[in-house]
Amino acid sequence: MAETPYDPQNIFAKILRGEIPSHRVYEDQSVVAFMDVMPQGPGHTLVVPKAPSRNLLDADPAALGPLLKAVQKVALAVRKAFEADGVTILQFNEPASGQTVYHLHIHVIPRFEGIALKPHTGVMEKPEVLADDADKIRKALV
Ligand code: AMP
Repeated sequence: MAETPYDPQNIFAKILRGEIPSHRVYEDQSVVAFMDVMPQGPGHTLVVPKAPSRNLLDADPAALGPLLKAVQKVALAVRKAFEADGVTILQFNEPASGQTVYHLHIHVIPRFEGIALKPHTGVMEKPEVLADDADKIRKALV
């Protein structure tokens, strides 16, 4: 099957280039993490490698180690920041799987006993809530 090429105009590429705003919580030489604007629960964060790839299927394997390391770091921080009972990690590849933004990203979602995730295509959160949540996560990272 032919691969669909990476589109450098996707929204996460624009966020990585600083062309559109995001609520950033973490950055290192390989990744950026920021709040999902339509969270499936409080503290829903996205970890995004700086290296361009459409999703996991075309990613450079060398980028995956640093990415997963950052996912663990952010998962520990969101668990602490939100006093979560657990953390769900999600990642989608191609439209059939539910992918809607075509730059590799990993969802990190704090979970609470007995509380279901909101739908994946949800409602836009208020910027002040996202700013406050991002602040909590940044504090938990130090
Ligand atoms: P998916 O491609 O299905 O893994 O999901 C893309 C995710 O990106 C969804 O959870 C959206 O809510 C989220 N999203 C879309 N646009 C933005 C944006 N500008 N900033 C932060 N998150 C976004």
